[in-house]
Amino acid sequence: MKLPLLPTTTVGSFPQTSEMRKARANFRKKKEMEVSLEELELKWIREIITLQEEIGIDVVVDGEPYRGDMVAYFTNVYDGFQEGGFVRSYGNRYYRKPVVVGDIKWKGPTFGTSFYWSYAQEYSAKPVKGMVTGPYTMMDWSFDEYYGSRRECALALAKVIRKEVKQLCQLGAKIIQIDEPAVSVKPEELNIVIEAMETVVDGLKTDYDVYFINHICYGDFHKVYPTILSLPVDQLDLELSNSAYDLFELFEKYPFTKDIGLGVIDVHSHNVETVQEVENRIENAFKYLEPNQIWVDPDCGGKTRSPKEWEAKLRVMVEAVKNVRKKYNLNSELKK
Ligand SMILES: [Zn+2]
Repeated sequence: MKLPLLPTTTVGSFPQTSEMRKARANFRKKKEMEVSLEELELKWIREIITLQEEIGIDVVVDGEPYRGDMVAYFTNVYDGFQEGGFVRSYGNRYYRKPVVVGDIKWKGPTFGTSFYWSYAQEYSAKPVKGMVTGPYTMMDWSFDEYYGSRRECALALAKVIRKEVKQLCQLGAKIIQIDEPAVSVKPEELNIVIEAMETVVDGLKTDYDVYFINHICYGDFHKVYPTILSLPVDQLDLELSNSAYDLFELFEKYPFTKDIGLGVIDVHSHNVETVQEVENRIENAFKYLEPNQIWVDPDCGGKTRSPKEWEAKLRVMVEAVKNVRKKYNLNSELKK
């Protein structure tokens, strides 16, 4: 895997077009369609891969056109779950909260993560990131009526997600991101988060030479730092530009021992950052971290932004990184 210093990437979701949303609604209503939803999704994946390559992003994604909710998308296909009633999730969206009613089991790979990953990788000359939701978040965002213990439930999910992740490894994914947005919400359960993540990745890194990332957002990092450094992954990808650059001060006391996914784009704002703003955010990080520890990306997924805003934000991000590489002579390859 050849990457420049300060590799650029995105967290996973891209804003979908009205054409795609309409097609999905028609698909749900079982309306006859001229072009199938799957064909549209594949066309859209090709378009956003081309866009990412043209912008100059180093590690690309399939954009997740197949996911509605990041938890229900997976639990819908695992044994042991039923759909519950509508609840409000982060970001003011409503989703059907999954209910655990029996032993959680894997029925085979969740269609999107393996099928669309392979499709995207075949289409792209750049590495495509594999992406799944983590066991702790799936547990935390479900109702458990079966295990009666948050740890047991998270570990049962971890065993299933491990199979999903192993499938991606076997297909050839070299960079896999496991999303755990819920991690920083309940600091007292970090031991469960870490144990579950160990169950997911144990041995896979060396067996398949994979680089693992945990994406974490929403919470107060001060409450979980430095304990989150015990997560058994190479990189922690953190939502920083919207809230928490002051976390850096803690790095002086407890050095950040992993790579960081430095969130430099606020995904909650319509306002497109200036190149200078993003450069400043990266240069500020140099005070606390080595350049070869830093990857650059937006705070979180882009599905709540318009396609135009998102593209503009990503162009700014890549331009800022290019300027910083030049300014600091960072023109060697990232060695990992
Ligand atoms: Zn996020």
